[in-house]
Amino acid sequence: MKHKPDRTVITQIPRAGDEGSSPKKGDRMRFCTVINCMDGRVQLPVIRYLQKRFNVDYVDSITEAAPNLILSEQKDMASIQSILERLKISIENHGSVGIAVVGHHGCAKNSAPRDDQIMHIQQSMHLLHQKNETIEIIGLWVDKNREVHDIEDTCFHPDSKTAAGGMRNILD
Ligand SMILES: [Zn+2]
Ligand SMILES: [Zn+2]
Repeated sequence: MKHKPDRTVITQIPRAGDEGSSPKKGDRMRFCTVINCMDGRVQLPVIRYLQKRFNVDYVDSITEAAPNLILSEQKDMASIQSILERLKISIENHGSVGIAVVGHHGCAKNSAPRDDQIMHIQQSMHLLHQKNETIEIIGLWVDKNREVHDIEDTCFHPDSKTAAGGMRNILD
């Protein structure tokens, strides 16, 4: 006799609308966005960090192999376009309150030393500033112990939210 697939699990999926109740009573669900490396080791530490950093319920994830390299080199325009399109969905559909771009120790695709990778992150932040002037953009470094660190923003953009936090070096 042919075994029929067990479909009972389907009944456990909440119907559309059921997910509308927010963890915070009466509040809208809050989202931020991360442009993270695909590396499995850095997903949870970064998500947990960002939930606190931006006070959000959920972190929309855009993953690439070494996104800090892609965004700083600006050679792979197809990947950059794809990142920006996904970013737009997160901002427009989820009202994302902040964007983080991440680099990490031991990256398979970006073998540059830490300080160079941090520069790649800062250059990535600058590209994102140019595309999104009204949303906070931060850079994160995940160290060898998988601890997450905010990276200094080296840009100065008078109209950008990111520039409101204080002094920045003018590199651009
Ligand atoms: Zn990586
Ligand atoms: Zn900038």
